[in-house]
Amino acid sequence: MTLATHIITGTVIGTKLNNPFAIAAVAIFFHFLLDSLPHGDYVNEKSTLRDWWKEATSLSIGLSIAFFSIAVHGIPEWPILKNIVIAIFFSLLPDATHFMYRFMKMNFLRPIKEFHEGLHYYPNGSPQRKFRLKNEYWEIGIALISVLILLFMR
Ligand SMILES: [Zn+2]
Repeated sequence: MTLATHIITGTVIGTKLNNPFAIAAVAIFFHFLLDSLPHGDYVNEKSTLRDWWKEATSLSIGLSIAFFSIAVHGIPEWPILKNIVIAIFFSLLPDATHFMYRFMKMNFLRPIKEFHEGLHYYPNGSPQRKFRLKNEYWEIGIALISVLILLFMR
């Protein structure tokens, strides 16, 4: 799924849990869970470093949505902010290891990369993995529910 969705769901985890270890574990688990739902991606196996502007865009969008969704109630106290930062970090970590494997030649990450890719509902390169609106209903739904939780159930 997009980094934006991982950031927004991570923010929910950071606002709901208190223990940093629990936050880290749940954030990683949720990343893999979300990736196992049907969705398209804006990068694939053929993407090059030049395509990573899409990740940068997604990162900015996700951080902006997360920020504004929590800031409407005022900036949280540091302990909660810290939990949110931890949650976002671990929500993004699986995709970061993918980046490190592909572009920084960290071959020891191969098992994680294969596990991560294997979780996806549709194989890489299939039409259902294209970044199209009709492939993103799950993703949009989850992002929307997460924003609503941040706005109204915090
Ligand atoms: Zn992922």
